[in-house]
Amino acid sequence: MSSVAEKQEFTFQTEIKQLLHLLSHSLYQNKEITIRELISNASDALDKLRHIQLTDEKYRDGETLQITIEPDKDGKILTIRDNGIGLTHDELVKNLGTIAHSGSLEFLSKLSADNKNAVSLIGQFGVGFYSAFMLADRVEVLTRSYADEQGWRWESEGTGNFSIQPADDVPRGAQIRLHLKADLVEDFTSDFRLKHIIQKYSTFVPHPIMLGSEKLNEMSPIWVEPKSQVKPEQYEAFYQYISHRTHEKPLWHLHQSVDSPLQFHSILYCPSMNWEKLGMGRMEHGLHLCAKRILVQDDCNDLLPDYLQFMYGIVDSADLPLNVSRETLQDNRVLGKIKKVLVKGVLDHLAKLAENEPEEFKTFSAEFGPIVRSGISTDFENREKIAKLLRFNSSNATDSEVLTSLDEYITRAPADQEQIYYQGGPSLTSIAKNPNLEIFRRKKLEVLYLTDPVDEYVLSTLGNYNGKKLIAVDDAEVKYPESAKDSEETPEQPESTTGTPAFEKVLELFRTALGEKVQMVRESKRLTDSPCCLVNPSGSFSTQLQKVLSMNNKDYEMSKRILEVNPASPLIVRLTQLSTNPAQEPFIQDVANQLYANAMLLEGFVPDAEDAVSRMQRFMTDLASSKSSIIP
Ligand code: ADP
Repeated sequence: MSSVAEKQEFTFQTEIKQLLHLLSHSLYQNKEITIRELISNASDALDKLRHIQLTDEKYRDGETLQITIEPDKDGKILTIRDNGIGLTHDELVKNLGTIAHSGSLEFLSKLSADNKNAVSLIGQFGVGFYSAFMLADRVEVLTRSYADEQGWRWESEGTGNFSIQPADDVPRGAQIRLHLKADLVEDFTSDFRLKHIIQKYSTFVPHPIMLGSEKLNEMSPIWVEPKSQVKPEQYEAFYQYISHRTHEKPLWHLHQSVDSPLQFHSILYCPSMNWEKLGMGRMEHGLHLCAKRILVQDDCNDLLPDYLQFMYGIVDSADLPLNVSRETLQDNRVLGKIKKVLVKGVLDHLAKLAENEPEEFKTFSAEFGPIVRSGISTDFENREKIAKLLRFNSSNATDSEVLTSLDEYITRAPADQEQIYYQGGPSLTSIAKNPNLEIFRRKKLEVLYLTDPVDEYVLSTLGNYNGKKLIAVDDAEVKYPESAKDSEETPEQPESTTGTPAFEKVLELFRTALGEKVQMVRESKRLTDSPCCLVNPSGSFSTQLQKVLSMNNKDYEMSKRILEVNPASPLIVRLTQLSTNPAQEPFIQDVANQLYANAMLLEGFVPDAEDAVSRMQRFMTDLASSKSSIIP
C-alpha cells in the first residue's frame, strides 16, 4: 500500500518555522532536554492509552506499557519508542504541524523580538517535540494509532516542510527516529551518556524506560511516602521533572498526606521565579491529578484557585474513580474538597514561612505577592488569611526595603486607633509630599504607602482588618484616636483666622470661583503648612485609584472632591485680611483657582493648563512690578 506516490507534502505553521529556526540558532542549547521532552511525550501517550484501556475493555491486550531507548551508532540513529496511544494521519498533521498552546505562541512572539533573556530560557521552556531538531537533521516518526489499522511515516528535515506517507507493519504507538547530527552521534548513542541523562531528568516518569534489558528510571512515587523518608534531593528532582524547569530549585514545597474528610497525598511546589514577570503571559499549568498513582489529568486547574495557579505539584487520591474523564471531573465533589484542604495548607504554610523564614517569605512576596493578593476579591472565605500575607511600605520605615504587615501595623498603633490609614501615589517620594499626610505626621500616626494602585483596590475591597476600617488618608471619614496628640514640634503659625467672618468670606469667594469643580469648600483641621488640600467624600475610592480607573476607562467619572482650606496658613491669613476690600475679590478668586490647580498637580493630574499658565503669568507680572530694581 505504501508507495512514494502517496507521499503528501505539508508546510509547517509559521510559528513552528520560527521555533525551529530559534532552536537551531540559539547559542544556548541544552541538548539533553530533547531526550526529556520526547520521553515526556511518550509517557503522556502511555498515560492516555492506559486511561482508554481502563475505560474500554476492547483495548486491553496485556502488553506492558513502556518506553524504549534504542541507540544505533552505525546507523547514526537514536530512537525513542513507546507503545502508547499513537497518532492517526490527521493527528500527525495537526499535532506535529501546528502549535496548539496559545501560551507557546505568545512566548514565541516575545522570543522573536530577540529578547536575550527569553532565548536563554528556551532550554527550560517545554519546547516539546520540535526540540528533536536540536539533535537531528532529519526526524522520522513511525506511528500507528490505537484506533487505526494503518500506520504512518512522518518525516522532516526541520526546515519548512514535512511529509506523511502510509507505512506498513508499524506497531501501535510512536517511534521517534532521530537521524543524529554528525557531531552528536558519538555522544547520543552512548549507553553511559543516555543513562545519565535519563536518570537526571526522567527518573519519575511513571512507566519503565528501557535501554536494552535495563530499566533506567526509579518510578518511585515519593508523594505517597512519609515525609521523613523523602530526601531533599528527591523533592528537588521531582520538582524539576514536574515543572520542566531544569536548573531551578523550588522556593519551598508542601507535602501533605490527608486521611479525613477524604484521603489524598500531595506535594505542592512554589517556583523560585515568577516567569510572568518576564513577560511570559499568564502561567497556568494546573496540578497533576492521580487516582491511586495513575495519572488522570496533567493540568488540572480545578485543584487550586486562580491566585495560586503558579504552583506545580501532584495530588493523588484514592477517593477518585480511575475511569474519571475530564468532563465528569469538573463536577466531581471530591475535587472541591481536596481544593479546600490544599488552599488551607498553602495559606497556613505561608503564614508560618512569614514568621520563621522572613527572608524566604520576602522573596515569595516579591515574586508572587501580586498574584496572591487578588484572592482578596475572589476568595471570601480565606480573605483574612490572605490579608495577613500582604506587605506594604509605610511612613514608619525609613528604608523602602522594609515592609510591614497589617498585624505589625496594628501592634504599633495606639490602642484606641480605629482605622488603618493608607495613601496611594505614583512613588514613595510623591506620597510623602502629599499635604494630607501633615496631620498624621503631627499626631505620629503611621500611614501605609501604596505605590501600586492594585494594592489600594485590594485594601478598599477588604474594607476591614481585625475590626479596623481600612481608609485612605484623603477620605473625609478619617478619624484620629483621642490619645494621639499633636506633637509639640509644630512650627509657629500666625494666628489662625478660624471662625472669623473674614475667613467665612474667603471660603465663600473660593466657592464661587471653583463652582462645579468641587463638591464643597470647607475649613480643614488636618493641615499644618499647606494652604489647602483635596479630600474625597466618604465612600468613594481614593484619588489614586480613581485616577487608574479613569485611565483605563474613558467614561469613568471621577467623584467630585472637597477642597479643605487651612485657616492658619500664612497665605490664607493674608487673603482673609484682603477680603475686607471688595477690589481684591478677583485676586482671591484667582488664588482659589490656582490653589486648586496646584493640588491637582501634586496628585499627578494636569489641570486646565491654559488657564493655569495664564494665571501664573499674571501673578508673576504683578509680583515683578512690585519689586524694586534699586539695590538697598
Ligand atoms: P505538547 O507535548 O506540549 O503538547 P509537543 O510539541 O511535544 O507539545 O507535542 C504535540 C502533540 O503531539 C502532543 O500534544 C501529542 O498530542 C502529540 N504527540 C507527541 N508525541 C507523541 C507520542 N509519542 N505519541 C502520541 N502522540 C504524541
